[in-house]
Amino acid sequence: MTDSSATARPDRRAELAAGLAHIRTRIADACAEVGRDRAEVTMIAVTKTYPASDVLALAGLGVTDMGENRDQEAAGKAAEVAAAGVRPRWHFIGQLQRNKARSVVRYADAVHSVDSVRLARALASATADRESPLDAMVQVSLDGDAARGGALPGSADPGAGLEPVAEAVAEAPGLRLTGLMAVAPLGWEPDRAFARLAEVAGAFRAIHPGATGLSAGMSGDFEIAIRYGATHVRVGSALLGMRPTLR
Ligand SMILES: *Cc1c(COP(=O)(O)O)cnc(C)c1O
Repeated sequence: MTDSSATARPDRRAELAAGLAHIRTRIADACAEVGRDRAEVTMIAVTKTYPASDVLALAGLGVTDMGENRDQEAAGKAAEVAAAGVRPRWHFIGQLQRNKARSVVRYADAVHSVDSVRLARALASATADRESPLDAMVQVSLDGDAARGGALPGSADPGAGLEPVAEAVAEAPGLRLTGLMAVAPLGWEPDRAFARLAEVAGAFRAIHPGATGLSAGMSGDFEIAIRYGATHVRVGSALLGMRPTLR
Protein backbone atom coordinates (compact mmCIF):
# COMPACT_ATOMS: atom_id res chain seq x y z
CA MET A 1 0.00 0.00 0.00
CA THR A 2 1.56 3.25 -1.05
CA ASP A 3 -1.30 5.67 -0.47
CA SER A 4 -1.07 6.59 3.19
CA SER A 5 -4.48 8.33 3.10
CA ALA A 6 -6.08 4.93 2.51
CA THR A 7 -4.34 3.34 5.50
CA ALA A 8 -6.25 2.96 8.75
CA ARG A 9 -4.68 4.31 11.93
CA PRO A 10 -3.23 1.63 14.22
CA ASP A 11 -5.90 2.19 16.87
CA ARG A 12 -8.65 1.69 14.28
CA ARG A 13 -6.96 -1.48 13.06
CA ALA A 14 -6.86 -2.81 16.62
CA GLU A 15 -10.54 -1.94 17.07
CA LEU A 16 -11.48 -3.78 13.86
CA ALA A 17 -9.32 -6.77 14.82
CA ALA A 18 -11.09 -7.03 18.17
CA GLY A 19 -14.53 -6.67 16.56
CA LEU A 20 -13.67 -9.30 13.97
CA ALA A 21 -12.41 -11.78 16.57
CA HIS A 22 -15.68 -11.35 18.45
CA ILE A 23 -17.85 -11.88 15.37
CA ARG A 24 -15.83 -14.92 14.31
CA THR A 25 -16.37 -16.46 17.73
CA ARG A 26 -20.10 -15.74 17.58
CA ILE A 27 -20.33 -17.37 14.14
CA ALA A 28 -18.33 -20.42 15.22
CA ASP A 29 -20.47 -20.81 18.36
CA ALA A 30 -23.70 -20.50 16.39
CA CYS A 31 -22.50 -23.16 13.93
CA ALA A 32 -21.38 -25.48 16.73
CA GLU A 33 -24.72 -25.13 18.48
CA VAL A 34 -26.59 -26.62 15.52
CA GLY A 35 -23.83 -28.91 14.29
CA ARG A 36 -23.06 -26.96 11.14
CA ASP A 37 -19.63 -26.77 9.54
CA ARG A 38 -18.18 -23.29 10.10
CA ALA A 39 -16.91 -23.32 6.51
CA GLU A 40 -20.53 -23.20 5.27
CA VAL A 41 -20.97 -19.63 6.54
CA THR A 42 -19.39 -16.63 4.82
CA MET A 43 -19.22 -13.41 6.77
CA ILE A 44 -19.78 -10.32 4.67
CA ALA A 45 -18.43 -7.16 6.29
CA VAL A 46 -20.99 -4.46 5.53
CA THR A 47 -18.76 -1.41 5.09
CA LYS A 48 -21.41 1.15 4.07
CA THR A 49 -20.71 4.60 5.52
CA TYR A 50 -17.17 3.47 6.45
CA PRO A 51 -14.08 4.49 4.45
CA ALA A 52 -11.90 2.50 2.07
CA SER A 53 -9.20 2.47 4.76
CA ASP A 54 -11.46 0.25 6.87
CA VAL A 55 -11.97 -2.12 3.93
CA LEU A 56 -8.20 -2.36 3.49
CA ALA A 57 -7.68 -2.97 7.20
CA LEU A 58 -10.34 -5.71 7.20
CA ALA A 59 -8.81 -7.28 4.11
CA GLY A 60 -5.47 -7.26 5.92
CA LEU A 61 -7.15 -9.15 8.75
CA GLY A 62 -8.34 -11.83 6.34
CA VAL A 63 -11.85 -10.63 5.48
CA THR A 64 -12.51 -11.55 1.85
CA ASP A 65 -16.12 -10.40 1.38
CA MET A 66 -17.46 -6.84 1.69
CA GLY A 67 -21.03 -5.57 1.38
CA GLU A 68 -22.39 -2.21 0.26
CA ASN A 69 -25.93 -0.94 -0.26
CA ARG A 70 -25.59 2.24 -2.34
CA ASP A 71 -24.04 2.30 -5.77
CA GLN A 72 -22.52 5.74 -5.65
CA GLU A 73 -20.68 5.10 -2.40
CA ALA A 74 -19.71 1.56 -3.36
CA ALA A 75 -18.34 2.45 -6.81
CA GLY A 76 -15.94 5.02 -5.39
CA LYS A 77 -14.87 2.82 -2.51
CA ALA A 78 -14.27 -0.22 -4.70
CA ALA A 79 -12.11 1.91 -7.02
CA GLU A 80 -10.09 3.26 -4.09
CA VAL A 81 -9.56 -0.23 -2.70
CA ALA A 82 -8.57 -1.58 -6.13
CA ALA A 83 -6.08 1.28 -6.52
CA ALA A 84 -4.41 0.04 -3.33
CA GLY A 85 -3.99 -3.35 -4.99
CA VAL A 86 -6.66 -5.14 -2.96
CA ARG A 87 -9.56 -7.01 -4.58
CA PRO A 88 -12.19 -8.28 -2.11
CA ARG A 89 -15.43 -9.87 -3.28
CA TRP A 90 -17.98 -7.06 -3.35
CA HIS A 91 -21.60 -7.93 -2.55
CA PHE A 92 -24.29 -5.44 -3.46
CA ILE A 93 -26.98 -5.90 -0.81
CA GLY A 94 -29.22 -2.83 -1.08
CA GLN A 95 -32.29 -1.96 -3.08
CA LEU A 96 -31.09 -1.41 -6.60
CA GLN A 97 -32.58 0.79 -9.28
CA ARG A 98 -32.42 -0.46 -12.83
CA ASN A 99 -30.51 2.60 -14.01
CA LYS A 100 -27.66 1.67 -11.63
CA ALA A 101 -27.26 -1.86 -12.98
CA ARG A 102 -24.58 -0.86 -15.46
CA SER A 103 -22.47 0.72 -12.73
CA VAL A 104 -22.93 -2.09 -10.20
CA VAL A 105 -21.83 -4.86 -12.57
CA ARG A 106 -18.47 -3.10 -13.03
CA TYR A 107 -17.31 -3.76 -9.45
CA ALA A 108 -19.74 -6.22 -7.84
CA ASP A 109 -19.14 -9.95 -7.71
CA ALA A 110 -22.61 -10.64 -6.35
CA VAL A 111 -25.96 -8.86 -6.11
CA HIS A 112 -28.22 -10.10 -3.29
CA SER A 113 -31.20 -7.89 -3.98
CA VAL A 114 -32.69 -8.98 -7.31
CA ASP A 115 -36.41 -8.64 -6.71
CA SER A 116 -38.08 -8.00 -10.05
CA VAL A 117 -37.99 -9.40 -13.55
CA ARG A 118 -37.15 -5.94 -14.88
CA LEU A 119 -34.12 -5.62 -12.58
CA ALA A 120 -32.96 -9.13 -13.52
CA ARG A 121 -33.17 -8.15 -17.20
CA ALA A 122 -31.34 -4.85 -16.62
CA LEU A 123 -28.53 -6.69 -14.80
CA ALA A 124 -28.45 -9.37 -17.48
CA SER A 125 -27.97 -6.86 -20.28
CA ALA A 126 -25.39 -4.94 -18.23
CA THR A 127 -23.25 -8.07 -17.83
CA ALA A 128 -22.57 -8.25 -21.59
CA ASP A 129 -18.94 -7.14 -21.27
CA ARG A 130 -18.09 -8.94 -18.03
CA GLU A 131 -15.58 -11.76 -18.19
CA SER A 132 -17.28 -13.82 -15.49
CA PRO A 133 -20.97 -14.18 -14.66
CA LEU A 134 -22.44 -12.08 -11.86
CA ASP A 135 -23.69 -14.07 -8.88
CA ALA A 136 -27.31 -13.15 -8.23
CA MET A 137 -29.56 -13.91 -5.31
CA VAL A 138 -33.27 -13.24 -5.37
CA GLN A 139 -34.42 -11.13 -2.44
CA VAL A 140 -37.57 -12.49 -0.85
CA SER A 141 -40.23 -10.46 0.88
CA LEU A 142 -41.25 -12.44 3.98
CA ASP A 143 -44.25 -10.28 4.85
CA GLY A 144 -45.51 -9.50 1.34
CA ASP A 145 -44.84 -5.77 1.80
CA ALA A 146 -43.45 -5.09 -1.66
CA ALA A 147 -42.64 -1.47 -0.80
CA ARG A 148 -39.69 -2.68 1.30
CA GLY A 149 -38.31 -4.78 -1.54
CA GLY A 150 -38.32 -8.47 -2.23
CA ALA A 151 -39.98 -10.89 -4.62
CA LEU A 152 -43.16 -12.58 -3.50
CA PRO A 153 -43.02 -16.31 -2.74
CA GLY A 154 -45.96 -18.31 -4.01
CA SER A 155 -47.09 -15.47 -6.23
CA ALA A 156 -47.50 -15.81 -9.99
CA ASP A 157 -47.13 -12.02 -10.35
CA PRO A 158 -45.24 -11.87 -13.67
CA GLY A 159 -43.05 -8.97 -12.52
CA ALA A 160 -42.31 -9.71 -8.88
CA GLY A 161 -43.32 -13.31 -8.12
CA LEU A 162 -40.39 -15.29 -6.76
CA GLU A 163 -40.50 -17.90 -9.51
CA PRO A 164 -40.75 -15.45 -12.45
CA VAL A 165 -37.82 -13.45 -11.01
CA ALA A 166 -35.75 -16.59 -10.44
CA GLU A 167 -36.50 -17.75 -13.98
CA ALA A 168 -35.38 -14.41 -15.41
CA VAL A 169 -32.08 -14.76 -13.53
CA ALA A 170 -31.61 -18.43 -14.38
CA GLU A 171 -32.09 -17.92 -18.09
CA ALA A 172 -29.65 -14.97 -18.36
CA PRO A 173 -26.21 -16.13 -19.58
CA GLY A 174 -24.40 -13.37 -17.65
CA LEU A 175 -26.07 -14.19 -14.32
CA ARG A 176 -25.62 -17.16 -12.02
CA LEU A 177 -28.57 -17.87 -9.73
CA THR A 178 -26.93 -18.62 -6.37
CA GLY A 179 -29.77 -18.47 -3.86
CA LEU A 180 -32.08 -16.29 -1.82
CA MET A 181 -31.69 -13.28 0.43
CA ALA A 182 -34.00 -11.77 3.02
CA VAL A 183 -34.16 -9.18 5.76
CA ALA A 184 -36.33 -9.89 8.80
CA PRO A 185 -39.43 -7.67 8.45
CA LEU A 186 -39.84 -4.87 10.98
CA GLY A 187 -41.69 -6.07 14.02
CA TRP A 188 -41.11 -9.78 13.35
CA GLU A 189 -39.21 -11.99 15.75
CA PRO A 190 -36.08 -13.21 13.92
CA ASP A 191 -37.12 -16.82 14.64
CA ARG A 192 -40.39 -16.35 12.80
CA ALA A 193 -38.70 -14.57 9.89
CA PHE A 194 -35.90 -17.06 9.36
CA ALA A 195 -38.14 -20.09 9.86
CA ARG A 196 -40.35 -18.73 7.10
CA LEU A 197 -37.29 -18.06 4.94
CA ALA A 198 -36.02 -21.63 5.48
CA GLU A 199 -39.39 -22.93 4.34
CA VAL A 200 -39.32 -20.76 1.20
CA ALA A 201 -35.68 -21.77 0.55
CA GLY A 202 -36.51 -25.48 0.84
CA ALA A 203 -39.19 -25.22 -1.82
CA PHE A 204 -36.94 -23.03 -3.95
CA ARG A 205 -34.06 -25.54 -3.92
CA ALA A 206 -36.40 -28.28 -5.08
CA ILE A 207 -36.79 -26.25 -8.31
CA HIS A 208 -33.27 -24.75 -8.45
CA PRO A 209 -30.96 -27.37 -6.89
CA GLY A 210 -27.81 -25.35 -7.63
CA ALA A 211 -29.05 -22.26 -5.82
CA THR A 212 -28.05 -23.23 -2.29
CA GLY A 213 -26.99 -19.82 -0.98
CA LEU A 214 -29.00 -18.18 1.79
CA SER A 215 -28.10 -14.60 2.68
CA ALA A 216 -29.72 -13.84 6.03
CA GLY A 217 -28.84 -12.31 9.35
CA MET A 218 -27.33 -8.99 10.36
CA SER A 219 -25.51 -7.78 13.50
CA GLY A 220 -28.47 -8.34 15.80
CA ASP A 221 -29.78 -11.65 14.54
CA PHE A 222 -27.16 -13.59 12.60
CA GLU A 223 -26.90 -16.42 15.15
CA ILE A 224 -30.60 -17.13 14.63
CA ALA A 225 -30.19 -16.96 10.86
CA ILE A 226 -27.33 -19.49 11.07
CA ARG A 227 -29.64 -21.79 13.01
CA TYR A 228 -32.05 -21.66 10.06
CA GLY A 229 -29.42 -22.32 7.41
CA ALA A 230 -27.85 -18.96 6.48
CA THR A 231 -24.76 -19.36 4.29
CA HIS A 232 -24.00 -15.62 4.13
CA VAL A 233 -24.36 -13.31 7.11
CA ARG A 234 -24.16 -9.55 6.55
CA VAL A 235 -22.50 -7.89 9.52
CA GLY A 236 -22.10 -4.13 9.74
CA SER A 237 -22.40 -2.31 13.05
CA ALA A 238 -21.28 -5.19 15.29
CA LEU A 239 -18.01 -5.22 13.37
CA LEU A 240 -17.38 -1.62 12.33
CA GLY A 241 -19.33 0.33 14.93
CA MET A 242 -22.65 2.14 14.96
CA ARG A 243 -23.32 4.11 11.80
CA PRO A 244 -24.16 7.79 12.20
CA THR A 245 -27.47 7.36 10.37
CA LEU A 246 -29.63 4.30 10.25
CA ARG A 247 -30.00 2.92 6.74
C1 LIG B 1 -26.83 -2.29 6.55
C2 LIG B 1 -27.25 -3.63 6.14
C3 LIG B 1 -26.80 -4.77 6.85
C4 LIG B 1 -25.91 -4.69 8.08
O1 LIG B 1 -26.66 -4.24 9.17
P1 LIG B 1 -26.06 -4.25 10.67
O2 LIG B 1 -27.25 -4.28 11.53
O3 LIG B 1 -25.26 -3.00 10.80
O4 LIG B 1 -25.21 -5.46 10.80
C5 LIG B 1 -27.21 -6.01 6.41
N1 LIG B 1 -28.02 -6.15 5.33
C6 LIG B 1 -28.47 -5.09 4.64
C7 LIG B 1 -29.37 -5.33 3.47
C8 LIG B 1 -28.10 -3.80 5.02
O5 LIG B 1 -28.56 -2.76 4.32
